[in-house]
Amino acid sequence: MPSLTVEEVETRLKTVPCAICKESSFGVDRRFMQSDGEWRGVCRKCHYSFPIYTDMEFYQRTQPDIPYRLKEMSCPTCNQRGVSLNFRITMSVRESIYFLTCTTCQGTFPERSSLEAFE
Ligand SMILES: [Zn+2]
Ligand SMILES: [Zn+2]
Repeated sequence: MPSLTVEEVETRLKTVPCAICKESSFGVDRRFMQSDGEWRGVCRKCHYSFPIYTDMEFYQRTQPDIPYRLKEMSCPTCNQRGVSLNFRITMSVRESIYFLTCTTCQGTFPERSSLEAFE
């Protein structure tokens, strides 16, 4: 497991809006932290909940093209290519969000829509 803490995930979730109420205040429901790395995020405003996937090592093993795409993605802060995937969430049926860290400047940012659909 990567060194991802609940607090870090909650902080990073503040950078995206809730699919329902568009607020950006989320908590991780500690009762639903499964051993396979699946957590549950809950909107503090409307109580909408969504899955958080934290086992990105396993995910990248099952999706072998993901590491290549991550190398091609550029950072919005320093414009250098190459990011690492920290965790991902499925905010709604159509919206998957990846939480990334730039390998050059260590800046963090969310990337909307799925990498599978990335061209
Ligand atoms: Zn909400
Ligand atoms: Zn950067």
